[in-house]
Amino acid sequence: NAAAAAAKRGGKAADDEYSEYGACTRFDELPLSRKTKDGLRKAGYTEMSEIQRAALPHALCGRDVLGAAKTGSGKTLAFVIPALEKLYRERWGPEDGVGCIVLSPNKDLAGQIFEVFQKVGKFHGFSGACIVGGRKGLEEEKAVINSLNILVCTPGRLLQHMGETTNFDCSQMQILVIDEADQVLDKNFQQQVDDVVSQLPKDRQTLLFSATQTKSVKDLARVSLKDPEYISVHEEA
Ligand code: ADP
Ligand code: MG
Repeated sequence: NAAAAAAKRGGKAADDEYSEYGACTRFDELPLSRKTKDGLRKAGYTEMSEIQRAALPHALCGRDVLGAAKTGSGKTLAFVIPALEKLYRERWGPEDGVGCIVLSPNKDLAGQIFEVFQKVGKFHGFSGACIVGGRKGLEEEKAVINSLNILVCTPGRLLQHMGETTNFDCSQMQILVIDEADQVLDKNFQQQVDDVVSQLPKDRQTLLFSATQTKSVKDLARVSLKDPEYISVHEEA
């Protein structure tokens, strides 16, 4: 029941906050920073898609979210916006280093996600990069990675930095996103992802998104979601 769920999440306040924003249909109705609102408007985003309407109020309250919605339904903004807001609210600055890590199963997708961060985050002062593997760029990445706020990574390349890059520090990271979670949590990535997650702070917000409803409790335990909201959207409104 709702009261028990609210209590479990740490009280009524969080639930009230959710019910206040749960009925919003437009981005500008959400409690977002001016910078994010301006970025959304400039990028031409006004109405939320269904997964965004369902996930954003929870994610913006700081909850862990497991969201499923088909390809093309707008999952990227459902995590880019909470990530930007988290860093904004924490007054994240150049000195604070890595604040957000997004795991993506491949380089192309990582590039697309990073573009959305650049577009919607353009009025914030955050720095970031795609950290995606290949020989090219490794030394450059090593030189700057500790000064970046947002890393959009493939699991293997992030693990490489964790192992090889002197003083690589993600001990202050606030928010972990796993996009295409069914692929990233698949057995092909299992060892890498488990190694990566074991080196991240436990006290963080975690958002998982995929096209199919994930799935085994074992997978979720691997990334230690805390009392997550399960959100599944089948039809676009
Ligand atoms: P998914 O990750 O679910 O496959 P994307 O986040 O890649 O979906 O979004 C699919 C497309 O929909 C992109 O071109 C994106 O710019 C567009 N889009 C996402 N959200 C909105 C929105 N609220 N209004 C208009 N277009 C949107
Ligand atoms: Mg996507």
